[in-house]
Amino acid sequence: MRRTLTAIAFVLTFLLGCLPVQVSGASEPTEHTFMLTEADLAYVESDTCRQDWVTGSPATDLETAETMLDERGVRIKPGNPVATATALARTLRVSKDYEKRDTAGKAILLSHELVHYCQRDEQGHTAFEESYFASAGRWRAEVPAYLQSFRTMLLQCMPIPVVEAAIEKRIMTMRDTYLLWDIEPTQYETETRRIWRSVLDVPEHCVAAANDAGQAEAA
Ligand SMILES: [Zn+2]
Repeated sequence: MRRTLTAIAFVLTFLLGCLPVQVSGASEPTEHTFMLTEADLAYVESDTCRQDWVTGSPATDLETAETMLDERGVRIKPGNPVATATALARTLRVSKDYEKRDTAGKAILLSHELVHYCQRDEQGHTAFEESYFASAGRWRAEVPAYLQSFRTMLLQCMPIPVVEAAIEKRIMTMRDTYLLWDIEPTQYETETRRIWRSVLDVPEHCVAAANDAGQAEAA
């Protein structure tokens, strides 16, 4: 009897051990758990549309940005009812309060839009428009463009906490877009935060300006 029970226990253990393992929480990736690929990350890290012309001087940068847009055949047209700016073909539709923005704000906005025009020219108009409405395409377009917005803010000597708050606000907006598309945004958020926060450094000219201001106050 005892031998029989041992034999049954042995067979049961063997059978259970052969059952397919169910890992809790792990499921097949679906369109709702879209994952960024190595290619997406490599594209964003390569940052080919980085705008090295930004100096941090709002007046200079605004003038340069307007000239560069003009050279790309882009005209700025106010009256966008839905967004701060939309790069539609060769017309940059900016919101109707665009003119009320200060010079620094305009320079930040145009430095961002110039990245999109660079991407559009690199990828071709149709490819850019199509990919912009797919999850990875939107990510590839906006991560480098906002990286440029945040770099411009830093070069304008905006305090780090202000830029950090802008980063978090933008991550929330991106999350809303993905949730609207029924896509789990966790992975996007982690990678986006890592990339955007990588530029959080006070530029040298801002350190010097802060030191000068401190000395003037102490004198
Ligand atoms: Zn954008």
